[in-house]
Amino acid sequence: MPSEKDGIMIILSSPSGAGKTTLVKKLSQQDNFEISISHTTRQPRLNENQDEDYFFVSESEFKRLIQNEEFLEYAKVFNNFYGTTRTPVIDRLNKGKNVLFDIDWQGADQIKNKKMDYKLITFFILPPSKEVLYERLSKRHIKDKLIAKERMKQFERDVLHWINYDYVVINNDLNECYLKITNLIDAEKNSGSKDYDLEYIRTHVDKLTS
Ligand code: 5GP
Repeated sequence: MPSEKDGIMIILSSPSGAGKTTLVKKLSQQDNFEISISHTTRQPRLNENQDEDYFFVSESEFKRLIQNEEFLEYAKVFNNFYGTTRTPVIDRLNKGKNVLFDIDWQGADQIKNKKMDYKLITFFILPPSKEVLYERLSKRHIKDKLIAKERMKQFERDVLHWINYDYVVINNDLNECYLKITNLIDAEKNSGSKDYDLEYIRTHVDKLTS
């Protein structure tokens, strides 16, 4: 049973381009919330810093961490490995800190299946429409339209995992989406009433996948 003193685990997943990383950063600015920094074998992007955005490691170092069973979860995403080491997460939770995870559906499934002694809330973030998503991805991969197209195809597969999450939130407006998430976290913590319409989400997913 989760203890009142322990922190909670909050997972945010989304198809690429739904704005999840920005949301996680904004959520981490609240008191007592910290982001779990993942290990990855992918190359750093220009605006990314070692030990802040990720622990960027070689494939052999990543494999050593797997062998040593240091990962709480890990997965291969777009040809690179990504993983969350267990110790820093447990240490924070035991100190009463809430830990935010920016991880994909494979990692979310693994953590869920571990049924750990800490409260877990999972969110899946969706874009308002396929058109908006394509626009966001094209801006991000300005030099390579092929990557944007590939990520759109990936989107169609990733979106199907929405059903395994506690809540699906549509990121039309960043602040609104942020408020929706913080309200749901508060409602979960205090067993309050939740402003959540599953049928609306189901219809939205149908539109995204049609
Ligand atoms: P990016 O390369 O764009 O930073 O991340 C690609 C995908 O990998 C994103 O969906 C991100 O949430 C996911 N990801 C990042 N870190 C982890 C991790 O530690 N574990 C898992 N399973 N996925 C991760």
